[in-house]
Amino acid sequence: MNRRQFLKAGSLATAAAAITPTWLHAADKNSSKMVGIQVGAVSFVDEGTQRVLDILQERGGVNTLFLAAFTYGRGIAGRQIPGQPLPDHGKQEYDVNFHGGNFATPHAKFYARTKLKAVKAPDHGNYDLLADVLPKAQSRGMKVYAWNEDVFGKDVPGAETVREIDLRGRPAGTLCPLNPDYREFLIALTNDFCQSYELDGVMWGSERQGPLLNAIGAKHGGGDPARVTCFCEFHQKAGKERGIDMARAKEGFEKLAAFMRAARKGERPNDGYFVQFWRLLLEYPELIAWEKLWTDGKHAIYSDIYKAAKKSRPGAQVGFHIWHNNSFSPFFRAEQDYAAFAKVADFLKIVVYNNCGGPRYADYIEQMASGVLRDLPRDEVLRINNEWLHYTNEARLDKLPTAGLSADYVFSETKRALDGVAGTSCKIYPGIDIDVPTEPGQKKTSPDDVYASTSAAFHAGAPGIIFSRKYSEMKLANLSAGGKAAREA
Ligand SMILES: [Zn+2]
Repeated sequence: MNRRQFLKAGSLATAAAAITPTWLHAADKNSSKMVGIQVGAVSFVDEGTQRVLDILQERGGVNTLFLAAFTYGRGIAGRQIPGQPLPDHGKQEYDVNFHGGNFATPHAKFYARTKLKAVKAPDHGNYDLLADVLPKAQSRGMKVYAWNEDVFGKDVPGAETVREIDLRGRPAGTLCPLNPDYREFLIALTNDFCQSYELDGVMWGSERQGPLLNAIGAKHGGGDPARVTCFCEFHQKAGKERGIDMARAKEGFEKLAAFMRAARKGERPNDGYFVQFWRLLLEYPELIAWEKLWTDGKHAIYSDIYKAAKKSRPGAQVGFHIWHNNSFSPFFRAEQDYAAFAKVADFLKIVVYNNCGGPRYADYIEQMASGVLRDLPRDEVLRINNEWLHYTNEARLDKLPTAGLSADYVFSETKRALDGVAGTSCKIYPGIDIDVPTEPGQKKTSPDDVYASTSAAFHAGAPGIIFSRKYSEMKLANLSAGGKAAREA
């Protein structure tokens, strides 16, 4: 897009939105920084494609779109979650009938090698998100990425044989990272998007961790220690190849589940919670070995996607969304080695959602303080965790849910990621929290928050940012504050 088209697009939109176009000059100067946003099909359908692009450019200074192309989760592809305030743009409705799937058009020939089949999301009829938005965005000089997420629905054809198997032998809702049909599906999906559409790149996100971390509830929201995965035939075989006996692993996980259930009830083992936990690890080194086996399977998929995208479209930029748990759990953080990621990623979107980060972090601390760290007072668990994660300026435990995490957190996590990939060509794009939902009474996003977090990410040296989770749930004033910080960066 040349400058004249740009100004024309800007001024038409400006007239519609009654915003003065003084920022246009500043936006040009800022063209080297990526200003990304996550946005789903629903917004273009509800508000009109050109209109949405106008708003994103004007208010957010956005030059890159991360389009929610494959997911069965409304978190990135829906409108607004029931119970949250209605958005101040688009349809004033919740998604009660959200389904999800492939929001572009699946091309069957790519999926010949997998039992899992890509199904067009039925949410918007024949609407093809990528076919609609790509040419319109690219003619404005905006870049476009397909943003795909590891969230599968119950009715995906072929999924029944690809499900993970939990500790008690039950099929789980999640799919197994060692199952060839799952791996081939993700390769096929990447090939389909990269070969069927003129994309600038792809982003994959998987908000999952292994059975040991799930068993000890090391995430916000916790979980049932008897529902951990995966104990399927593929995991059994892969374990055997490493000299790990799945039967021994299951025995260890059963004992860990019993320990966790007792800990949650406050039934202190004679030698204390931490000592008993450590004793289980000594007796059953399979607990850690199975965690590593699972995690290696997850990470192999990042490599699969990277190779498939590069082969399909050599110029495509390939990146990964790193789950927010990286900000709370030192256990999960240990599995997110930025230098290792840099070998299979052109960029990493590190989630540094600071507003919802407050209540989520407080919940993480609660989970740990009622389990393996139950010997310690809750405030001490937070203090020690802050030391482990190198957070120096965050609220007390009782204030965290209403205060959120600070812009200092955004700055230091951005800096840590940049240092982690130093000497490589991997870029760091912090994911900025704009109205990520929280419970009533908890921290909500304000324009000042978005301005501060966006500025912090750029001041730390980030070459770009991604406004998250999705445009449809963002208040326009908050998006504008992000745009202001981006233009000043
Ligand atoms: Zn498995």
